[in-house]
Amino acid sequence: MSISASDIRAWIGDYADVIAENRMELVRLDTAIGDGDHGTNMDRGMKAVVEKLEATDGDDIGALLKGVGMTLVSKVGGAAGPLYGTLFLQIGAATAGKTELEVQDWADGLDAGVKGVQARGKAVLEDKTMIDALAPAVEALKAKAAEGADLGDALRASADAAEQGRDATTPLEARKGRASYLGPRSIGHQDPGATSSALLLRAAASRWG
Ligand code: ADP
Ligand code: MG
Repeated sequence: MSISASDIRAWIGDYADVIAENRMELVRLDTAIGDGDHGTNMDRGMKAVVEKLEATDGDDIGALLKGVGMTLVSKVGGAAGPLYGTLFLQIGAATAGKTELEVQDWADGLDAGVKGVQARGKAVLEDKTMIDALAPAVEALKAKAAEGADLGDALRASADAAEQGRDATTPLEARKGRASYLGPRSIGHQDPGATSSALLLRAAASRWG
């Protein structure tokens, strides 16, 4: 099985729905260690993304995802908008011209996306950010792709890894972003960006897994 452009559209639509459902939870998490806007930021951005996708024709997956990234960069403020924008822009660049993605293409795309987020935000593992969910997800995907796993198996493994990484942010002290201003007081709270990133990977696994 592979991922088509219409699958990508459906995945983004699912993610917008999941973000809307989890908006208040993301607000609650960001209120504890940030300024409380992560849920509303992401919800506003994903609603704009869905409108943009509905107005965009074509089955070039790279072009679709670049459109997603550009919309997030332009519509969402704060740290997460430009970072999620970069994630999708870079996945789009890595998949430019493709109308179908195999497991390896998906792993390569997500790898490029996460490298882009790290180049922009300078976060490494255990800084208590979205990278703590995204980087383990990429590692799991690459390992599954290397062993020739099918798409569903690979996506489930990446979503599981993202959720483990999200959970592992709770005991960490934040070293990047607004939460880092709290120093040790950021300990004991789950990171909002890692939470929204785990939802993104789970949306893919739920659709194709
Ligand atoms: P802001 O912090 O500007 O209010 P959001 O609340 O929308 O933006 O997003 C906060 C999330 O952004 C954090 O939970 C964290 O996961 C992520 N984040 C913040 N800074 C960075 C960074 N430098 N690299 C990666 N992710 C980051
Ligand atoms: Mg915030």
